[in-house]
Amino acid sequence: MSLPPLVEPATELTVDEVRRYSRHLIIPDVGMAGQKRLKNAKVLCVGAGGLGSPALMYLAAAGVGTLGVIDFDVVDESNLQRQIIHGQSDVGRLKAESAAASVREINPLVEVVIHNTALTTENVMEIFSGYDLIVDGTDNFATRYMVNDAAVLLGKPYVWGSIYRFDGQASVFWAEHGPCYRCLYPEPPPPGMVPSCAEGGVLGVLCASIGSIQVNEAIKLLTGIGDPLVGRLMIYDALEMKYRDVKVRKDPECVLCGKNPTVTELLEDYEAFCGAISDEAAEAATGSTITAQELKAMQDNGENIFLVDVREINEYEIVSIPGATLIPKGEFLNGSALEKLPQDKKIVLHCKSGARSAEALAIVKSAGFSDAVHVGGGVLSWVKTVDPSLPSY
Ligand SMILES: [Zn+2]
Repeated sequence: MSLPPLVEPATELTVDEVRRYSRHLIIPDVGMAGQKRLKNAKVLCVGAGGLGSPALMYLAAAGVGTLGVIDFDVVDESNLQRQIIHGQSDVGRLKAESAAASVREINPLVEVVIHNTALTTENVMEIFSGYDLIVDGTDNFATRYMVNDAAVLLGKPYVWGSIYRFDGQASVFWAEHGPCYRCLYPEPPPPGMVPSCAEGGVLGVLCASIGSIQVNEAIKLLTGIGDPLVGRLMIYDALEMKYRDVKVRKDPECVLCGKNPTVTELLEDYEAFCGAISDEAAEAATGSTITAQELKAMQDNGENIFLVDVREINEYEIVSIPGATLIPKGEFLNGSALEKLPQDKKIVLHCKSGARSAEALAIVKSAGFSDAVHVGGGVLSWVKTVDPSLPSY
């Protein structure tokens, strides 16, 4: 399937532009017309993180005239393993500003628009409407569904990518010509089922593999060349070194882009739609959540507690709370953890951020440990508020 170019060509290229883009200009399929289209193009990159880094850098180098970057986060040391648009001296700096500085250094002819804000249901429609194409580099389901819904409602195409450990996926969603993200994934996964990269890790260079596919598809859509990844899902396995693509059909029953849509405007709350934690976990955690400082006080007072770290061993080896026993969450799910818990001590669970420990808490409480609690904010909160000398991750 070939599609018409998304963008009309700019009237001309300057002498500087002709020199800079000469290796594009001599490709017959791109040529002067294609480069002029790139010059006229407005592309928004959602997130200046793992996928946003290579995407922004190559889009800038390619001569996309206007590049928007939206991110509210600041650069953390643990980002530098893969978010190569940021450097050591950017740690602590706003990601959107750090990314914009790199883009300007790569190509001063690009106009950078900084959106130093979180993407929300209040601003997404207005922000998206200023761009021809969206590149989605988000790392969570709530934002992903919101990006999809806004793009479909505005009739805009977007290039989606996702990464986890050694596995990556990419596709182009454009409801006018093919399926949307909801056609592929009608329901968000159950809370706690799909670990994030922060929980499960990601091979740094995987970002480049998937981010470069996203830029490749963006350039094809903007200039109208090649066979776009509309209606196809690209699946990449870095360990096997295999790419394969599978057909994705438009779902006629899709609630958003199907024949009789029931979602005709943005949802009120995407976090609630995707459920940060399950209802059971939320219920178990209510009134049974302590702070890291309260845990420290319990330890200092010699209270009779049994502290359980429900993370994975790799995480435990990076940083752990003194006195914690490692019993990964999977052992709670299969029931084998319960026999390891003493009956005569108060059970205190923790994980990295408090989501997994809340899931485990629901299991522990329903097994009869009614006074069990978990640590809100987990190890991250411990490092921040109790012992900043420990590493964060
Ligand atoms: Zn759909």
